[in-house]
Amino acid sequence: MTLIDFHTHHQQARQALISMDARDFSPQAGKVYSVGLHPWRSAHVSLHDLERLNEAARCGQVLAIGETGIDTLRGASVEEQTMLFRHHVTLAQEVGKPLIVHSVRSAQQVIKTYREQRAGGLPLAVHGFRGNERVAQMLLKEGFYLSFGARFNAAALAMTPADRMLIETDSDPVNIHEVAAMVALSLGIDERLLLRRVAENCKRFLCL
Ligand SMILES: [Zn+2]
Repeated sequence: MTLIDFHTHHQQARQALISMDARDFSPQAGKVYSVGLHPWRSAHVSLHDLERLNEAARCGQVLAIGETGIDTLRGASVEEQTMLFRHHVTLAQEVGKPLIVHSVRSAQQVIKTYREQRAGGLPLAVHGFRGNERVAQMLLKEGFYLSFGARFNAAALAMTPADRMLIETDSDPVNIHEVAAMVALSLGIDERLLLRRVAENCKRFLCL
């Protein structure tokens, strides 16, 4: 399967890595997933929820762990979200699957946690990236991939290396070809070239 939509919550999306909260995980035949405990739902995580995550993470249709991460504007406290994020990093290392991160005004905290967990070598992508060049630079320096959706910062996109760029629909009411057209236009490249690149990047990132 050629994947081009790196991160979506549209359950019926094609050529997509579908993101599901482990608490709702119910895989459909022929689809591939990432599973995590979403930062927006980070308050009141029970032991049972962690067990469900552990179990889902080992499913063959699950190619990545997440989304997880830190959102300073929503969800539990930054301390609690950091603890939960740490749990996802450890799990990703255990099961040998890459990590998909939701980061809102928390790039430094994400990098700090990643380093503290000695996660070097664990592939990590920040999804729905809308930060500026400075934040992009920080994350790229760490070796992370950046995934761009319907809204993005054109300067940050322009400085992202071709082999570190992904695209996504997330939960926006768009299809992946509309996002690809916007990103390709912003970069001044052919849409087919962009799609080839992101498909290759998805494949490499997910070790397919
Ligand atoms: Zn998402």
